[in-house]
Amino acid sequence: MSEPPYLTYSRYLKERHGCSVYRVAVDAGFTCPNRTAGRAGAGCSYCDANGSRAPYLSRNEPRFPVGCTGADGLPLDAGSLQRQVREAISFYRRTHGEGEYILYFQAYSNTNAPVEALRRVYDAGLAMAAFRGLNVATRPDCLDEEKADLLASYGERGLEVWVELGLQSADDATLKRIGRGHTAADFERAFDILRSRQLKIAVHLIFGLPGEGLNEILRTIRVLARLRPDGVKIHNLHVPKGTVIASEYRKGELAVPTPRRHLEYVIAAIERLPPETVIMRLTCDTPLEKLAAPRDFWPKEKFHSTLETEMKARGSRQGRLFSSAIQ
Ligand code: SF4
Repeated sequence: MSEPPYLTYSRYLKERHGCSVYRVAVDAGFTCPNRTAGRAGAGCSYCDANGSRAPYLSRNEPRFPVGCTGADGLPLDAGSLQRQVREAISFYRRTHGEGEYILYFQAYSNTNAPVEALRRVYDAGLAMAAFRGLNVATRPDCLDEEKADLLASYGERGLEVWVELGLQSADDATLKRIGRGHTAADFERAFDILRSRQLKIAVHLIFGLPGEGLNEILRTIRVLARLRPDGVKIHNLHVPKGTVIASEYRKGELAVPTPRRHLEYVIAAIERLPPETVIMRLTCDTPLEKLAAPRDFWPKEKFHSTLETEMKARGSRQGRLFSSAIQ
């Protein structure tokens, strides 16, 4: 089978671990400081009530009735965590056969608790199966030296540790417009803290944010090309129902890129990213029933196959313009 002209996550995992590796996404009950009253409050303008929770958890597992910002830290619902791990692993066995697993704390901000509470939650999750790795998604303003040291300690135990850091855009005006509640400098500070501990870093980006076209996206990509993250996750702009951008969209205040336009953004970005950066995701997979727009975006498989065909036809490949991007 032919390989796409960029480094996919599945190829990276196979080469790194020598077998099929799957991510077990869990919701451990963390919250997000950007949704907490007293801060920006409403959260990012595109954030729905699930805070990037895995879609299958929305259907099968209720959110814990807990917060994680109290003096006692995060109350752990070990039963729920165990159910989520068990169900995910049995799902992968049924659909993909045997493999190895990475524990992925995905929903909301998974370092948003005191360090001892984080240790308790990560340890509890990791004890539930023989995991190869630990992935933790979070925000730049939820990281400090102590939390980074904790994450690095799991690497010393032999786990591959990745931290997924939300940036979306390196433009402060865009970050303000979408209510991210942090700046590009906050992101770089968190990035440096993680990098100094040799933790793997994946950066989340959204292409087609309000006020952003190709030039703005390439400015963000140049920042990343300089920082050389280990991975990127790219989303097309999606407009979940009931969000701030859904009401902007209804009023005609923003346009959502078509699949063709997103494809052009993605090719331009991949060509400028370092050849070794893992391209972990290229589109979002919000279920259609939750989306106000786009309603007619291509299925993921069609986007990937069109991208591969298009890149090969153009002689395009990851990193082709990397050296010019960092000048
Ligand atoms: S950081 Fe994530 S969970 Fe928090 S408001 Fe933004 S999208 Fe929602």
